[in-house]
Amino acid sequence: MIRFLLVSILITLVARAFWRLMDGVIEAAGGRPGRARPPANAVKLARDPVCGTFIAPARAVALEARGGGAVQYFCSEHCRDEFVRGGSGRPHSRTS
Ligand SMILES: [Zn+2]
Repeated sequence: MIRFLLVSILITLVARAFWRLMDGVIEAAGGRPGRARPPANAVKLARDPVCGTFIAPARAVALEARGGGAVQYFCSEHCRDEFVRGGSGRPHSRTS
């Protein structure tokens, strides 16, 4: 009975390792667009125009630009305030 248990555990481990290996081979050989890419990597990062930090829009502080309709994303309210204070749509004009 114990032997049967050990054998089944061993088979499970081998099968798992085998499928992991197969996944790697498929991903390496495939290169098919739109497949085999985990959704976590598909999240497009936005760039904080003030400090240059890349953030996920879902976690960022958003600000709708006046007129343009584009949305700027910031890592913190501090950066957003800095951007608003800098104004005139020139992200890189920092005076410090
Ligand atoms: Zn920032």
